[in-house]
Amino acid sequence: MTQTNLDFTFAVPTQVFFGAGKLNILHTLPMPGKKALIVISNGKSTRANGYLDRTEKQLDDAGVAHILFDKVQANPLKATAEEGAKVARDNNCDFIVALGGGSIMDCSKAIALNAANPGDLWDYVGGKTGKNKPTEKNPLPIIAITTTAGTGSEVDSGGVITNPETHEKLGIMHPGLFPVYAIVDPELMATVPPRFTAFQGFDALYHSLEGYVGRANNPFSDMLEETAIRTIGEYLPRAYSNGNDMEARARMAFANTLSGYSMDFVGCTAEHSIEHALSAYHQDLPHGAGLIIISVAYFSKIISQHVCNERFITMAKLLGNTNATKPEDFITALKSLQKACGVDNLKMSDYGINPSEFDAMATNAREVMGGLMDLDRQPLTHDEVVEILNKSYK
Ligand SMILES: [Zn+2]
Repeated sequence: MTQTNLDFTFAVPTQVFFGAGKLNILHTLPMPGKKALIVISNGKSTRANGYLDRTEKQLDDAGVAHILFDKVQANPLKATAEEGAKVARDNNCDFIVALGGGSIMDCSKAIALNAANPGDLWDYVGGKTGKNKPTEKNPLPIIAITTTAGTGSEVDSGGVITNPETHEKLGIMHPGLFPVYAIVDPELMATVPPRFTAFQGFDALYHSLEGYVGRANNPFSDMLEETAIRTIGEYLPRAYSNGNDMEARARMAFANTLSGYSMDFVGCTAEHSIEHALSAYHQDLPHGAGLIIISVAYFSKIISQHVCNERFITMAKLLGNTNATKPEDFITALKSLQKACGVDNLKMSDYGINPSEFDAMATNAREVMGGLMDLDRQPLTHDEVVEILNKSYK
């Protein structure tokens, strides 16, 4: 079957309820438990926008009890997840409602796993220092209500958590972490500020671009990624320019969910390993911003390997460069999309990153997230990763 690549397993058990206003049907669904831990961010927006009140009302109408955990930061930390898990256990919560963006959904997954399997969260992860023990119990069921179009975490079985003591930012994976329900309601995304709309939209884009040029692709994943890439190229600039453009928000939400399926299917590549190393050392760096910063150098490197020239030409066309004839035209298209979304001049130095850290970061990318580095068609060497970081530095 190698000629066609039509040899795969695909199973995403999450029931997705997609469309404007879908939060309003939550109360009609069978609930996966009797008492929910609602997980939100440590910021103001989930309350200020009324999303928390609306979700609590849905749970009231569904006849389930709930308590709140509102301490999750961006790039969520191991200690926060462990604290949330303790709150869930101490209050006998038997399911989790994740209400927010990628950080919230990621942290909720770690909470769900650790609530059912007490002890050090790192007992159950891989990476460099995790013990990789099997879990004794399934994680608590999760309902994911996503308020951003970025990580695709609402339809995958992983959550990214940072351990600041060991500088590990890694994915916690478990088949029981697929949300039971994903509510993808673009009306909840209208309030995301332009800059974060761009960061999140590019994260979704890179999930699909990486899957498309990675070694694990197949015609099914291609179909998801091609639609996601074309959609993001067309609608991200609109969602960035006018957050209330509900068509653009809905199309971006759709592209993000497709990119999530792409990750379930074929994973990401070294670009994500390298970015995780950057934000493992610099907690304030948003994931999407880190990816944008390294993306031109990363994809230029892959182009120079000549491992999938036609795919880069196709991606250039999907991003709107319809006259593309050579792989380098993809870089032109990528830069032009970054410019249209106001993120063409992000600087590592603005986030306190220093070139003296690059060697350690390249080592970290391989030690912590080496699995993704094997998904490039021609895996990068340590020196090549350092070179990508140097070329990305401003
Ligand atoms: Zn990502």
